[in-house]
Amino acid sequence: MSVTEISRPARGSNSTTQQTILETAATTRLLESEGILDYSGHVSTRIPGRDAFVIQVGSTSRAEVSPDSMLVVDYDGNVLEGDGEPPSELPIHLEILRARPDVQSVLHSHMELAIAFTMMEGVKLLPMRARASRWKSGIPIDPDPSHIKLPEQGRALARTLGPHHAVLMRAHGLCLVAESAQALFVDAVHFKENATAQMQALQAGAKPIPLSEAEIAQIEKMEMREWHIKKLWNYYVRKALDQEVLPQAWRDELVPTNEMLKRDRAL
Ligand SMILES: [Zn+2]
Repeated sequence: MSVTEISRPARGSNSTTQQTILETAATTRLLESEGILDYSGHVSTRIPGRDAFVIQVGSTSRAEVSPDSMLVVDYDGNVLEGDGEPPSELPIHLEILRARPDVQSVLHSHMELAIAFTMMEGVKLLPMRARASRWKSGIPIDPDPSHIKLPEQGRALARTLGPHHAVLMRAHGLCLVAESAQALFVDAVHFKENATAQMQALQAGAKPIPLSEAEIAQIEKMEMREWHIKKLWNYYVRKALDQEVLPQAWRDELVPTNEMLKRDRAL
């Protein structure tokens, strides 16, 4: 252990930090379990009330991420808490979080299905399924196919993302952004469903018919995003606990209470 590591304060120095670490670790395992992350890719989440965010140690298996393999990192990329090195593509998270104060959590994934939509002439990934109204403003493609290891690459990616909620990366992967780690996980599930639906339409030899503006307006009228996120989080966390994808010791911190699962309005 280096002197720098010894001098760092204990990991998870307050309860907000600990909960952010646990939710981000759980989100990573859930995304791996759903085939959205594999041997690479990562999730970052801002720590409320601190000028820092959490991200996993780059070398840790995405299927085994735990609070012990999470780092607290500041917006200059310095590791404040935890032992190990962040992922080499840390500039993705640094620059998107810097550019987008509205974003709390960032996913970078090398999802095959998403990458395919950066490789087809004349084909764009479009909002097909109802839940894909989330990406109604567009899903831009960043032209840099290399690993994003330099600040200027991260800044260029953040510029391509702009105000949107998703960006594809040519021949490389994608990033999603959301208001929490839980929301990010649910968005990733729907992003994959939507890409699958469009690919199925293409494979059937048909011209995909994306959601129209009027259809998106109708979907949004009926939307209860906060409750929907809790509902799916509850489903996937419980399933993962049963299947030992998540350790039982995490149950109480992750499973929503009945009170939390109440709908805030009836439609
Ligand atoms: Zn990558």
